[in-house]
Amino acid sequence: MGKLIVIKSNSEIECMARAGNALAQVVDDLKGSLKCGVTTLEIDKIVEDAIIKRKAKPAFKGYRGFPASTCTSFNEQIVHGIPSNRKIKDNDILSIDIGLILDEWMADTAFTIGFGPISEDIQRLIEMTQKSLHKGIEQARPGNHLSDIGFAIQSFVEPFGFSVVRDFVGHGIGRSLHEDPEVANFGLPKTGPVLEEGMTFAIEPMVNLGTYQTKVLEDKWTVVTADGKPSAHFEHTVAITKDGPKILTDLNG
Ligand code: MG
Repeated sequence: MGKLIVIKSNSEIECMARAGNALAQVVDDLKGSLKCGVTTLEIDKIVEDAIIKRKAKPAFKGYRGFPASTCTSFNEQIVHGIPSNRKIKDNDILSIDIGLILDEWMADTAFTIGFGPISEDIQRLIEMTQKSLHKGIEQARPGNHLSDIGFAIQSFVEPFGFSVVRDFVGHGIGRSLHEDPEVANFGLPKTGPVLEEGMTFAIEPMVNLGTYQTKVLEDKWTVVTADGKPSAHFEHTVAITKDGPKILTDLNG
């Protein structure tokens, strides 16, 4: 509390929408290349080329020393996986997180995709995590409280037996990739700051099949579930407008 949440003007939100739309196009470019046998380094190259083609810059590369433009997290990896020569294979799920900077404004998005036959419970994990993102986004409107977002996400996924990661959360976003406030994916309703028009958040539920507890691997980046069970992750950059939430990182944004 007491933290500064930067309010953006309408014209600043338009700039962020251009960044968000460019990022949605990057994701769209990538989708046809996501198949078994492709390495995550190849994915990273496709992403970086697509970002540069749109006169934008990768937001993650070099951020606190991160070595790539994309975070690629397989199966029990939750977030911050580093692209490598590992190939996608049948039964894998892969979370892909991408950020870019266009004209000094940031956009951040993520999604999880399954390959080959994946079990029903893991398929449901992916689908419900994506739905929970939209449950959270729906709360991003003036007059609601910050924690209404996390409450909506948590109370949607837990009845399926899934758990919400506590150690990593969403965030404000704008000229910086990570601004205040932290946007938790859990918590009680009606606490924390009151939401206002002009706030811009990256809302990003990370939902686990088993325990919510996490570990960080020896590479100091890759976050995995403590019990080795799979995790899914979806993220959009969202602006709070007087009419409600506006998703900036979709193709209509
Ligand atoms: Mg993010």
